[in-house]
Amino acid sequence: MSEARYADRRLRALEAAEAAGLGGILVSPGPDLAYLTAYAPPPLERLTLLVLSAGADPTLVVPTLERPLAESAAGAPGLTVLDWRDGRDDPYGVVAAMLGPGSYAVSDRTWASHLLSLQRAAPGRPFFAASEALPLLRAVKDADEIRRLRAAGSAADAAFADVIAGPFVGRAETEIALELDRLLREHGHERVDFTVVGSGPNGASGHHEPGERRIEPGDAVVMDFGGVRDEYCSDLTRTVFVGEPSQEQREIYAIVLAAQQAAFEAVRPGVAAQDVDRAARTVITDAGYGDRFVHRTGHGIGLEVHEPPYIVEGDETPLEPGMTFSDEPGIYLAGRFGVRIEDQVAVTDRGAERLNEADRELTIVA
Ligand code: ZN
Ligand code: ZN
Ligand code: ZN
Repeated sequence: MSEARYADRRLRALEAAEAAGLGGILVSPGPDLAYLTAYAPPPLERLTLLVLSAGADPTLVVPTLERPLAESAAGAPGLTVLDWRDGRDDPYGVVAAMLGPGSYAVSDRTWASHLLSLQRAAPGRPFFAASEALPLLRAVKDADEIRRLRAAGSAADAAFADVIAGPFVGRAETEIALELDRLLREHGHERVDFTVVGSGPNGASGHHEPGERRIEPGDAVVMDFGGVRDEYCSDLTRTVFVGEPSQEQREIYAIVLAAQQAAFEAVRPGVAAQDVDRAARTVITDAGYGDRFVHRTGHGIGLEVHEPPYIVEGDETPLEPGMTFSDEPGIYLAGRFGVRIEDQVAVTDRGAERLNEADRELTIVA
């Protein structure tokens, strides 16, 4: 990816900060720093901080030891790298002296210890969480990001196709979860973040941890899994039935599928995020299960698996081409079973496209 892209992102971030009335943005190791510099060190007790300040050169403050690594990041061209040395420099004083007037946004992943020290070094300075002040910093994806999200999605689709080819009856949830983990890696994931497998009554609890329960004929099995491929996240949910489903299971599945489709069809530029939630919720509420759809319809996805915008009542973000998020309504019948169907979608110029193509029709496994 071209170096200019990172400088361009920093420019846009600073413009957005100024438009929001902020003096700038302070960014610690984490997804925001990776997005703005391609530098992705682990968070440490030593301060690493990108300072984007109105009217000043973008500056990356790093411990002296880390300087060579920081300078070799793909996004380093155009960055001033300023190092501070153990036992000699106070990094918080260094940063405080760099700040212009006004309040600053601070990336969400900043450790409290760093922010508290910074607050002591810059008394009276207002700081805001970046997710609160600049929620849409990474929300609109470029073509390269969408290509990578689609590749991660396709890998998850392939893992699903593989797992349903195998048997379910008699296996523990943990076995299916381990297999999904292995399959995601086999299909190119460098990291697996979650493999939720909820069979029978366990499927009625949204983020159930897979356990030793053995899968039985008649179970609905909710599988929600994902991780990171080429830096971008996957997140796919499918619900399958072990043997012939009951009439009620078929009905619930059809309602969730219709809700998922209604949300998808509601996506287009200019529509508020909450209206996509309403589209799914209306289908489920009209079918009499409104109080069993206990979570939001979706979340943004990108460098993080959950990021703004959120597809939920109260999120009035107008959708823009390039935004990517999940469409994942569900119905949960406590003590019995649950159904959730989740795809990632991207907003296009005229509507939306899915980033997952795993079969959405009712699937029966053995
Ligand atoms: Zn989740
Ligand atoms: Zn999921
Ligand atoms: Zn999700």
